Amino acid sequence: MNLDIVIPIYNEQENLPELYRRLKRACEPLYDVAWRVIYVNDGSRDDSMRTMLDQCREDPRFTIISLSRNFGHQAAISAGLAHVTGDAVVLMDGDLQDPPEVIPELLKRWQEGDHVVRAERRSRKERGLRRLGFDLFHRGFQWISDFPIPAQAGIFGLLDRRVVGELNRFAEKNRFFPGLRSWVGFRQGVVSYDREERSAGEPKQSLKRLIKYALDAVFSFSYKPLKLMTAAGAVISAAGFILACVFVVRRLLGIEIAQTGFTTLITVLLFLGGVQLIAIGLLGEYVARIYDEVKQRPLYIISDRHGSPSVGSRDEKISTHSYPEDQSRSPREL
Ligand code: UDP
Ligand code: MG
Repeated sequence: MNLDIVIPIYNEQENLPELYRRLKRACEPLYDVAWRVIYVNDGSRDDSMRTMLDQCREDPRFTIISLSRNFGHQAAISAGLAHVTGDAVVLMDGDLQDPPEVIPELLKRWQEGDHVVRAERRSRKERGLRRLGFDLFHRGFQWISDFPIPAQAGIFGLLDRRVVGELNRFAEKNRFFPGLRSWVGFRQGVVSYDREERSAGEPKQSLKRLIKYALDAVFSFSYKPLKLMTAAGAVISAAGFILACVFVVRRLLGIEIAQTGFTTLITVLLFLGGVQLIAIGLLGEYVARIYDEVKQRPLYIISDRHGSPSVGSRDEKISTHSYPEDQSRSPREL
């Protein structure tokens, strides 16, 4: 059987040598498996490209797809998935937070008949604000999502060729991969693992990107924000109507309403103004995502391939340019 291992890489020069060693050590004992690594270089500006090229030269099972600039984690994954040819595909991060030693377990579950094998974190080592953010997101998302998506799972896992084929048909631009993976269905299995610390370097997903990712998850898998807005509108209108009736009746009966009332008025005015702006903002989040879909821009552009990632994939039409020279230069220079 053929196994493709897709790894998005953005400025991971410190982790690549260790990743290479551990991948080989973990996959070497799989005698009946022809495995191949597809690095997706997501516009790295450090020495990652050079290190990856060295690895390709040393071991032809390591291949590279280079994107024309930094398109982000999710786009890099999509680029990798569009190029796989294996019977099964493992997706994992390149910072060794997803241990390669779990790959044989994922394969075992696949051989037992699962089409999608999720690697779920039994524990995780991140601390501080980042950890709090992850925990809050997973808890909040469970509640808000219209579709059941298991918590504590990132991209790490295995996909059957058929599942990859289905995922490659998805054209949506603002992707939340763990959600899409659950959405496709098929027989899904789970393997638990202890999530390690990032092996070296700073996280490459900035806080801003992580927030965008969390919002993409919410807005692509839930209409609840819209429903909550409608519900809030209904409650506020009902309260307004009742209050209006009370004031009209008191006025007709000649009961004095108020001498002053500035504080009350200004409070209500500001509160309702705020609620309306939040509602417009929420609506805007959906509209912006609709606009992204309508523009139909490609998710990524490929500038170069090294090794033998398959040709003839669906992005072939858009990757008409080739920039084989210096990958460490910035996209503007290119
Ligand atoms: N990554 C990428 N493009 C980006 C940011 C990150 O390809 O714009 C890669 C990165 O090199 C790593 C993986 O995606 O292999 C996960 O990134 P990171 O560890 O920063 O994310 P986190 O673990 O914080 O979710
Ligand atoms: Mg990481």
